[in-house]
Amino acid sequence: MKNNTLAEIAARLLSAERILLFPHVRADGDALGSAVSLCAALREKRRQAYVLLEDEIAENLRFLMGDYCTTDCSAVGKPDVCVSVDCSDVDRFEKRRDVFFSADCKICIDHHVTTGSFGDMNYIDPEAAATGELIYELLVQMSAEITPFMADALYAAIETDTGGFRYSNTTRRSHLITAALFDSGLDSCRVCNEIYDSMRGEQLTLHAEALSGMRTFAGGQANLACVTREMLQNTGADMSESEGIVEKLRSIRGIEISVLLKEEDENVIKVSMRAKSRGDVAVISQKFGGGGHKKAAGCTIRLPMEEACRQIIDAVEEELEKECSQCAKE
Ligand code: 5GP
Ligand code: MN
Repeated sequence: MKNNTLAEIAARLLSAERILLFPHVRADGDALGSAVSLCAALREKRRQAYVLLEDEIAENLRFLMGDYCTTDCSAVGKPDVCVSVDCSDVDRFEKRRDVFFSADCKICIDHHVTTGSFGDMNYIDPEAAATGELIYELLVQMSAEITPFMADALYAAIETDTGGFRYSNTTRRSHLITAALFDSGLDSCRVCNEIYDSMRGEQLTLHAEALSGMRTFAGGQANLACVTREMLQNTGADMSESEGIVEKLRSIRGIEISVLLKEEDENVIKVSMRAKSRGDVAVISQKFGGGGHKKAAGCTIRLPMEEACRQIIDAVEEELEKECSQCAKE
C-alpha cells in the first residue's frame, strides 16, 4: 500500500470544482470535525463543496454542522472529487457508496490501521491520533487560512479521538497541532462544553440503566453492557446518546477490555469495544467483519442480543488469554 503525498492530494483538490466529503455513518467528532473543516476550507477557496451524510448527527456534535452538511446526493451535481474521511472501509458509507464511486477521482484520508487503499489517491497514517491531524496538515498544504470555525472543528476531531488527550494515541503532534489551532482562534472551552456538558437528562438516565446491567467476565479483566431498544423507549433517549458508556465501563480499575452492545434493530447488534493497556480490540472486531484501532474498535453482529454477548465474551476471553500466553513467553 503506497500513500500519495498530502501535497499531491492538496493539488488535486484545488484543481476540482465540485467536491463531496464522506464522513463515516454515525459520525463521531473526528469524522464530522475533519469533514466540515475541509469543506469550509474548500468553500474559502471558492469551490462547491458539501459534506454528504446518510444519517442523523448526534445532538452534541450538531454545532459543527454549519451549512456544510447535506443528505442530497446531487448537492454539487456530478462531483469531480469525492473524499472519504475517517472511513476504514467503504462499508462505513454504504448508502453513499455509488455517489462516492461516481466521481472522477476518489480520495481516502484516514488513520485506521485496518484501512485498505480504496481510493485513486490515498493518505492513510495510522500514527495519527485523529484524521483531524491529517486534515490540519492537508489544509497547510492547501495554503488555506484556518478560520476559528475550522480550528474548533479540528480541535473537536483531535480532542474526541484522543479521549481528551488521555489515550495512548496522543502524541506531541496532537498537542502541537492543537497549539497552532489556538493561533487560529480556537475556543476549546466552547467545544468541550458543547460536546460533554450539554447532555439531556434522558441520556444520563440511559447511561444509568445500561451501566446498572454491567457484566464482568474474564476473571475481572473485561466487562460489557447492553443498550436495548426497550431501554431507549423507557428512558426517551436515542441510540446516539449511548456515546460515552463504553468509556465509563473501561474506567474501572483492573478492566482491560470493555464492550457495549447496542441493539440497532431486531438481531442487529452494533458493538463498540475499548481496550486499556493490554489486548487488541481491532483484532477482535475483525473476527466479526469490523475494524478500527487497537484500543477502540467496532463491528456489527447479526444475532439476538444474548447470542451476540456470548460470542463477544468468548472472543474477548480468547484475546486476553492470547495476550497472557505471549506475556508468559516474553
Ligand atoms: P465506536 O465504538 O466509537 O463506534 O468506534 C470506535 C472505532 O472503531 C472507530 O475508529 C470506528 O471507526 C471503528 N469502528 C466502529 N465500528 C466499526 C465497524 O463496524 N467497522 C469498522 N471497520 N470499523 C468500525
Ligand atoms: Mn478517527
